[in-house]
Amino acid sequence: MKKIILLIAIGILIACNSKNKSTTIDFNQNFEEYKNTFIHELWKTYPGWALSVGKHDYDSILSIPNEETIQKEISFCKNQLDSLKKYPIDSLTSSNKTDYLLIENHLNSTIWYSTVFKSYEWDPSNFNVCGSFAEILNSKFDSLDNRLVVFNKRMINVPTYYEAAKKLIKNPTIEHTQLAIAQNLGGLSVFETDLKDALSKSKLEGSVKNTILENASKSVSAIKNYADWLKNLKNENPREFRIGKELHTKKFEFDIQSGYTAEEVYNKAIERKSELHHKMAEITFQLWNNYFKQPIPQDTLVAIRTMIDKLSGKHTTPDSFQTAIEQQIPILVDFINQKNLIYLDPSKPLVVRKEPAYMAGVAGASISSPGPYDKEGNTYYNVGSMEDWSAELAESYLREYNHYILQILNIHEAIPGHYTQLIYSNQSPSLIKSILGNGAMIEGWAVYTELMMLENGYGNNEPEMWLMYYKWNLRTVCNTILDYSVHSLNMSKDEAMNLLINQAFQQTAEAEGKWKRATLTQVQLCSYFTGFKEIVDFREEYKQKKGKEFDLKQFHEKFLSFGSAPVKHIKKMMLSE
Ligand code: ZN
Ligand code: ZN
Repeated sequence: MKKIILLIAIGILIACNSKNKSTTIDFNQNFEEYKNTFIHELWKTYPGWALSVGKHDYDSILSIPNEETIQKEISFCKNQLDSLKKYPIDSLTSSNKTDYLLIENHLNSTIWYSTVFKSYEWDPSNFNVCGSFAEILNSKFDSLDNRLVVFNKRMINVPTYYEAAKKLIKNPTIEHTQLAIAQNLGGLSVFETDLKDALSKSKLEGSVKNTILENASKSVSAIKNYADWLKNLKNENPREFRIGKELHTKKFEFDIQSGYTAEEVYNKAIERKSELHHKMAEITFQLWNNYFKQPIPQDTLVAIRTMIDKLSGKHTTPDSFQTAIEQQIPILVDFINQKNLIYLDPSKPLVVRKEPAYMAGVAGASISSPGPYDKEGNTYYNVGSMEDWSAELAESYLREYNHYILQILNIHEAIPGHYTQLIYSNQSPSLIKSILGNGAMIEGWAVYTELMMLENGYGNNEPEMWLMYYKWNLRTVCNTILDYSVHSLNMSKDEAMNLLINQAFQQTAEAEGKWKRATLTQVQLCSYFTGFKEIVDFREEYKQKKGKEFDLKQFHEKFLSFGSAPVKHIKKMMLSE
């Protein structure tokens, strides 16, 4: 309560100030200070979130999910919205403007999530303590012994946490209930195995270790008890996992922050799908006789699939997978420099490494970047190994990430995709942008660079490369169609399978996984295509505006200079310059 009064007082002070010397006041200076206060208050209100971004001041506090906490969070948001109003947005620099809009969207979105969306009533997987405890054990922000002491303090509230969670749950969906059971039981190893391993390496006194073990066994019981409670829950009218058009439209607005509505993006995706089918058919006709003796199938979609299957046979081996990726990085760099596509800082080469053990199982390749509080940390390109995989599994994986797609994956994940975007966004350091950064812009950029590289001749304009690119792009297009259709148009599983397998040429296992993801998440699957489409459309608009002066390299560098901001804000700022 005291804090709220204090904040209001600061607000009034600033307001008075602005009246007295409105001509000389530097709102940017004040806004910088406000942002610091905001972040400070944010971590106090959300200790678990703080932990996840590497701010370890409140690790010993486990927030109890109850009505009181929800109300506390809502009043935090309302107070911050009031404070925000003190800063006339037009007097802020473009970077601060973006920060302002990101904060405002976050606060309004949180209030909406707590009062309207209320997933805590129907998604029991909201409640899971395991990840935060694993984080304390795995990240080396402090000595092991200190981390174990914090771990223990945090652990004391685990039973209370799950008792409170049960009271918030009203009518969970069957799908999210199963997910919650699986994920909570899956996380038990943190307390049963990982903690014991850590204790064996620790120099803490025996009595302290025993207390930790006692609390760990209480935590294990609480988690098992929660899973049992969910299994036996009498839930005669479970909620539909589909959230419906109204909620989906609003969630899309808050999560994606696009200049388009969800429905507009869906229509653009439908249009792109037929455009891609058309282009894929052309290439398939063109290439057919080079690869097959038999006549081309009557059904165009069957012909395209047959051609894709054929081309997928060109791939590396499990042993050479990492080398294949490593060898491609300098080729990408040379191509970009030679074609003048974007400046790449030569002092920040990308480190390719075999994925560390704690990430194992998540095959493929991914970028892991240091968090906002770990400026010195390295950025890695983690490459999954297929060490314990059956030959059959490895083969199907390598066919998926074949000769062509592997190159597109490297463009997306590394250069000039995620890795390059990250370096640019670190140049204008803004904690707000790294904490509240826009996922659709980040994914959209990576997806955009795939097309941009091929447009500029990467892959020598080989029709095979283009065909495989179109297949890859079709995946993000169909992710959007699937998400929107499932949640807003009541799409059935059969219809979804037809879309993914027959129209997007996916394997059954991949399609099954995608269906499951669409039932458990909402909107996120739209982010890739939405960001991509917004960037492509904006680039055309900017080209028109600049006429002969348009320069692709300049466009890219300018676009990335705003950090991970929503495309619609970047667009506004670039067009107004
Ligand atoms: Zn093969
Ligand atoms: Zn990505």
